[in-house]
Amino acid sequence: MRLRKIKGADEAVATSPYVIHEDLEAPNDWHKIFNNDHPLHVEIGMGKGRFLMELAKTNPQINYIGIERYTSVLIKAIKKMEAAPLPNLYFMCVDAANLEQFFAPGDVMRIYLNFSDPWPKDRHARRRLTSVEYLKRYDTILSPSGQLEFKTDNESLFDFSLESIKEAGWKLLACTRNLHQDPKMNLGNIMTEYEEKFSAQGNPIYKLIAAR
Ligand code: SAM
Repeated sequence: MRLRKIKGADEAVATSPYVIHEDLEAPNDWHKIFNNDHPLHVEIGMGKGRFLMELAKTNPQINYIGIERYTSVLIKAIKKMEAAPLPNLYFMCVDAANLEQFFAPGDVMRIYLNFSDPWPKDRHARRRLTSVEYLKRYDTILSPSGQLEFKTDNESLFDFSLESIKEAGWKLLACTRNLHQDPKMNLGNIMTEYEEKFSAQGNPIYKLIAAR
């Protein structure tokens, strides 16, 4: 994805009180950060943060972490938090390839992946956030009953993800190839920025929920 650099974004992210600043020494102490022991849900590749902010507003009994690797994107979510802060949400500006550095084994109850970059070339398949390599990382940080939720409008990426889930020995708990026409799976659905854009173009939205 090509991104325009935004002047001042690096500094704004580095100094924002809404961003957890990377601790390379040890996983973060989430109980201390949130000042409670509520369950932790994480969105990887959160973009501008609309989905996560809506979730955090609706579910004050859950703690949320949004991961986005580009400051030029994260700055948009930070601006929204400055306008309407939420005590149960923090952001991290890191690459999800290093997840195990930030979360201890079993720390996370749920992982959300929404409209993840498709990386269409075969030689980049390992970079897809639903590859077997990433599922191994999620396996480490998820709690035993933890779940993964994935939405996309990209059919090839969805099919690839179903294969990865099978290959990694995970269980498919739910699956739809047209989320917005599936009353059960669409119940309480919160649209992401990309979801709104692609569904407005008439693209069906695919969703799966998986666990080990
Ligand atoms: N989830 C949002 C939505 O549905 O509107 C944004 C989708 S956008 C296509 C994917 C986002 O994931 C981008 O902002 C990208 O920078 C981020 N991303 C992709 N790979 C990542 C990684 N390895 N670590 C952290 N963020 C990543």
